[in-house]
Amino acid sequence: MKSITQVLDYTPFIKTLHPSLCGKVDIVGDVHGCFDELSDLLDMMGWVMGEAPDDTADPITLNHPDGRHLVFVGDLTDRGPASDKVLRLFVGAQQNNTATCVMGNHDWKLARYLVGRPVSVRESSQGAIDQIEALGSKFITRVLSAYKRAPHQLILPLPPLHPYADAGSLIVAHGAARTHRQGREDRDTFERSIYGYPTGEVDDSGNLVREDWAQSYDGLRPVVHGHTPCKEPRIVNRVICVDTGCVFGNALTAYRVDSDSFVQVPALTNHSSNDKYLIA
Ligand code: MN
Repeated sequence: MKSITQVLDYTPFIKTLHPSLCGKVDIVGDVHGCFDELSDLLDMMGWVMGEAPDDTADPITLNHPDGRHLVFVGDLTDRGPASDKVLRLFVGAQQNNTATCVMGNHDWKLARYLVGRPVSVRESSQGAIDQIEALGSKFITRVLSAYKRAPHQLILPLPPLHPYADAGSLIVAHGAARTHRQGREDRDTFERSIYGYPTGEVDDSGNLVREDWAQSYDGLRPVVHGHTPCKEPRIVNRVICVDTGCVFGNALTAYRVDSDSFVQVPALTNHSSNDKYLIA
């Protein structure tokens, strides 16, 4: 987008949620432009969304009557039908301080593209880029300033009755947060937080193979992540995956921290021809 001269002035950072939000948090898996499913999921959890007409660049407001906070595990856009509306909600909710998005690999790539960095745009991202550019440079600036406030790790306090309360806090990262990477703001940690651990191999479906780092996790602190679609929300060694591949036709999932429970809506459509992507 040549009219944007702004540089992406982003420094990796950790955010810690205010103790007053202890447990009052809903963590949503990879949305990838599936706005309708997101809207239904938020509605089920009592969130109140403002008007969201099509074809405007207006931010969409989001509030919860109980003062809850929404956390996106990252990957707001790409592949799905309405990346623009998901970003309008992200911008609106961030303005009200009712949501935080941890940086995902798709978010990072989009942000770099929008400031004119040389990134290779896949077909699966082009639709999102077209939608966002159609909303104009002011909207793009809003998206970039929202992403500038997206940490690569988010730490949130755990309420005393939570099953993992002995850890004191929970950490959210898009890809991975092994014990020795938690709470670090260096570049390597940023990369592992958003990309996880690709092995360098490609599977039969053409997807990058990623190490299943949860299998060897031995930390006390629970980690909630996305990035790797699972058929069902998965808990392994206190590592909770909330990416259930909505854009691949499966489901959109949220983890409610205080009740230690999952809420799901089924996907409306499979936006990919690839159904081997989901880990059983
Ligand atoms: Mn993803």
